Amino acid sequence: MTETQNSELLTYEAVKAGGQRVVPSMDFLRLRWFFKGSIEVSIHVLEDATDSTSAQTPYQITVATSTPDGQAIQQVQQHVISSSSISDLPISSIEVRLADLNYWEERWEDAHRPEESCSAIWIDDGPEGERKAIQCCGEDRPYLNSPIPSLTVKASKEPKPFVTIHDFITAVHPWMSALEDDIRHSRGVIRGTPVPKKANLFVHNSSLSPLRTIDDLGQSPATVAYGRRNVAAMTTRIRDGTSPA
Ligand SMILES: [Zn+2]
Repeated sequence: MTETQNSELLTYEAVKAGGQRVVPSMDFLRLRWFFKGSIEVSIHVLEDATDSTSAQTPYQITVATSTPDGQAIQQVQQHVISSSSISDLPISSIEVRLADLNYWEERWEDAHRPEESCSAIWIDDGPEGERKAIQCCGEDRPYLNSPIPSLTVKASKEPKPFVTIHDFITAVHPWMSALEDDIRHSRGVIRGTPVPKKANLFVHNSSLSPLRTIDDLGQSPATVAYGRRNVAAMTTRIRDGTSPA
């Protein structure tokens, strides 16, 4: 690690506000992160983030072992990258937002064009007589009465003082899994229907917040492989310091 480990760590937001470069770490870029239930079945680790076809191993496994006195127990083990920083520079915390939820309202407007629909329901919105559609085609406007969800992930400090991959995964995986229906809704607005469960949903590792997801609905294996090669190419640029912050 660099000297930054010894000095006071900043939050992700403070590092960005200070104009410093903060990108996903090379180990974070190795994650192959799906939403198929538990962390054990959903997340794998690529041998080499710059090679999209390199071998993958599970991020977390449960192994049967025994105590010194011979009692059989189950032990949960994480991949060695679990204690790596999620980012380069390391950070003390990060407020995670999801790109799909950030864009949901805008996508809803684009898809519905409520001003052209006789079925839209409007409310007054602003002193200048502005109005806002709160429902169209029987569908409510997203986040009308609630803020867009976000999640603050803090460094657990042990074993490392910065936000580790394990800090991030253990907080973000259950949170995103609970929001999965909304993510599929947002991704499906333009397509006219939510992205169905039969399509895989997975994290695009290019940014930490807003965190992007992609899906493979209607994509051939060749198209998915092409997307994976693009991520690997982006990984090479991040490694070489030639990517934008
Ligand atoms: Zn509509």
